[in-house]
Amino acid sequence: MAGLSTGITLGGSGHDITIVERANHLRVNGSPIDIRGESLDVAEHMGVLDAIRARRVDMSERIQFVGGDGELLAELPDTEFNDRPDDTEIPREDLAHVLRTALDPTVRLGFGQSIAELHDDGNGVDVRFASGEGQRYDIVVGADGMHSATRSLAFGPEDQFLRHLGFYVALTDLPDRAQPDRRNPMYNTPGRMAGIATYRDKALAVFMFRSPWIDYDYHDLDAQKQILRDAFAGHAAWKVPELLDAATDDSELYFDSVSQIRMPTWHRGRVVLVGDAAHCASPLSGRGTSLAMTGAWLLAEALADHSDDIRAAFNQYEREQLPHVTRAQATAGPGGDVLVPATQSDIDARNQRLGALTP
Ligand SMILES: Cc1cc2nc3c(=O)[nH]c(=O)nc-3n(C[C@H](O)[C@H](O)[C@H](O)COP(=O)(O)OP(=O)(O)OC[C@H]3O[C@@H](n4cnc5c(N)ncnc54)[C@H](O)[C@@H]3O)c2cc1C
Repeated sequence: MAGLSTGITLGGSGHDITIVERANHLRVNGSPIDIRGESLDVAEHMGVLDAIRARRVDMSERIQFVGGDGELLAELPDTEFNDRPDDTEIPREDLAHVLRTALDPTVRLGFGQSIAELHDDGNGVDVRFASGEGQRYDIVVGADGMHSATRSLAFGPEDQFLRHLGFYVALTDLPDRAQPDRRNPMYNTPGRMAGIATYRDKALAVFMFRSPWIDYDYHDLDAQKQILRDAFAGHAAWKVPELLDAATDDSELYFDSVSQIRMPTWHRGRVVLVGDAAHCASPLSGRGTSLAMTGAWLLAEALADHSDDIRAAFNQYEREQLPHVTRAQATAGPGGDVLVPATQSDIDARNQRLGALTP
């Protein structure tokens, strides 16, 4: 989302842009995402607001916590506070296609490609791609997500910047699935949550579990599936086995730690980071995509304001983006305890508390 957004904002201001995506296709899976607050204005400037609005989905149906036989135990009231009444939720796949379509035709978008080496000599950056090809650029924008390889090349190892919040998350399509008897059921055992989220005629399996940091190769999909199965081993109630089977069959499973990226600066020389690569707020914030779009816009504005001074441009971008990031990262706190209570008594206490709130 950050990469395509930056392609739109910089491509639109006359720069010559190449985007490289490691996957060999546009990565469109995931759950619907929020476009909030100022990022709606950014979407308008980018010329994509109408297309986003036309594809909005209504996700206001309540989450229902269920027991092992699917019985209703408690409902999550509408606790979500919008930044603005016109905040919009759109399927991730729709947003990806809207952004891709909005790219200026001069922007090159290459798949199955990533950066292997960077050399910044102060006047430009020599990039060697994994394919072996080389090219020189004025600037390199790292928009490659929480585990950004660009960030590792320019700023050093990830562990300096990543704060694990103690959870892992997984999402998978439930293809050809009849609509479930409830719209958004979630089933808890201590430290684990498995659920279903529905929108339009689609259903997604959602998993979250508590865990300390797990060291594994996060490009290894089979390892991710095994970690997920291990986390739910011995938990066969409700629809857990069926949901795990869907995750195991999915070649596009989304699996990651729930973490934040916190860095003292997002630029070094002629390399600058946008989106999760710079400041992942975690899925618990619900603001990652809004931040990615806002950052792409502010970066393009800053480069336009300081076309002859990269350092001044990057400083302005950071100064203007930082308040949005600070706020988004601060909102990620308590959600995990509500969705994934640590013990059975925490689950019971949550259900009791929510039961008292629901009419
Ligand atoms: C498949 C997928 C599903 C997601 N689903 C959800 C969800 O359901 N809920 C949620 O809250 N958040 C989800 N996210 C995260 C969410 O998209 C981001 O938090 C937010 O949109 C910020 O976007 P971003 O572009 O900075 O990062 P990301 O959306 O993570 O995008 C980074 C992109 O960079 C690519 N990439 C990674 N490494 C390299 C490399 N070395 N070279 C080139 N390209 C690389 C990735 O394939 C990806 O397309 C998902 C991310 C992905 C990739």
